[in-house]
Formats: sequence, C-alpha cells, structure tokens
Amino acid sequence: MSTNGDDERSTPEQDEQAPRVARLWVSNSGRVACDAHGGMYLAVAVEQAPRRRHHTTPLDAWEGYTAREVALYLDGDTSVLSCEDSRCGARIGPSA
Ligand SMILES: [Zn+2]
Repeated sequence: MSTNGDDERSTPEQDEQAPRVARLWVSNSGRVACDAHGGMYLAVAVEQAPRRRHHTTPLDAWEGYTAREVALYLDGDTSVLSCEDSRCGARIGPSA
C-alpha cells in the first residue's frame, strides 16, 4: 500500500493517525455506503483499521474504493458510486 507517493510518510506512529482516504464501500450484497452509513459494524471496523480496504463484518464483506479506482474500473464510463443514504451526498467517480 505504498503506491501513492504523495506527501505521505509512513512511520508507524503516523500510520496510526493517517488521514483516511476518501472511499465508498461496496458490500457483497450490493450495498454502497460511506463510512458513516454502512452500519455500526463497518463504522467500527473502519475506525479500528482506517487504512484497510477490506472489512469483513458479521453482516457483510466490504471493499473500499477510491475515486481513482472507480475511474479505472469503469474505464471511461462517467458513472459514480454514491452512498445509499439519499441525504448523504457522498459520491466518488470520474465526474465526482
Ligand atoms: Zn453516506
């Protein structure tokens, strides 16, 4: 996970407090949610391991996608992933 050589240093202490990458989570049952709206299990899992991109909870298996990954996956499509909570507005994608 050291492929984004931005201004991110990776000493262990800083890893613990590293800012989260903006992500939306897609579950094995097809739900799409942000950190806040994936339910308590996901919220706790993300809180405990902010840099992990896979979280398996008692209800779902979640995979986190960044905007860059969505753009690559969609390969030119301009769709976006958006949080299933209609009032949330969290969305990522090539045009978001
Ligand atoms: Zn949300």
